[in-house]
Amino acid sequence: MTAQFITHVHSDHLVDLADVAMTRWIEQQLHRTGPLTVVAAEGGAARFARRMFDVFEDDIAVRMKHVQCEAPTIDLRVFEAKGTPAEVWRSDNGAVAVEAVAVHHEPVMEAVAYRVTTPTGIVVISGDTRVCEEVERLSAGADVLVHEACRATALRDLTKGTVFETILSYHADTVPLGALAERAGVQHLVLTHLIPAPRTEPEEEAFAQDVRSGGYTGRVTVGRDLTTIEVDRRR
Ligand SMILES: [Zn+2]
Ligand SMILES: [Zn+2]
Repeated sequence: MTAQFITHVHSDHLVDLADVAMTRWIEQQLHRTGPLTVVAAEGGAARFARRMFDVFEDDIAVRMKHVQCEAPTIDLRVFEAKGTPAEVWRSDNGAVAVEAVAVHHEPVMEAVAYRVTTPTGIVVISGDTRVCEEVERLSAGADVLVHEACRATALRDLTKGTVFETILSYHADTVPLGALAERAGVQHLVLTHLIPAPRTEPEEEAFAQDVRSGGYTGRVTVGRDLTTIEVDRRR
């Protein structure tokens, strides 16, 4: 793994980051990869990355006494989350570039989306956000937009006046998301972070129908765990 990018500080998005960094450190005896590069917005995400080894203090001390020569570290690249896209990382050979833009997941601040530009295609990853102009601009002409999806329109009556109404208010309503993807000219919309989690194929299909009802005419995939998408616009 070349680099890892944090979208925002909600546990479901970074609880396993320390696992990746610690495991990489432990395996340095076998794979001399060096520390994990972590790209994070200044604020909570960078703070989380700086502190994530702290709770492993005792484990690290034992391992260092035993076999590890050096303490675990990460190669942390911090950037300022802004409303206009800016490059935050580029591969050593220059072929792959990643831009970030601040999105709208308030009350979580400094949440960002990423646009990954490669020689074979462009992929945009929304992170968690309401449907917003920032992601629309970032997604212009993307081959794949991986966007979080929440059936807020369908659930409106059910959630009215409950805590779920608040939770849904900072996630992406699937119907306007379909309109966004159509306006941005996205080739393939991949829905992830599905709320409510579908348990049957018709429940999965309802997510696709929502983005269609919003006007999206491109290809739609309702993501499952470990769904893999191949991107190669040259074919
Ligand atoms: Zn979140
Ligand atoms: Zn989330």
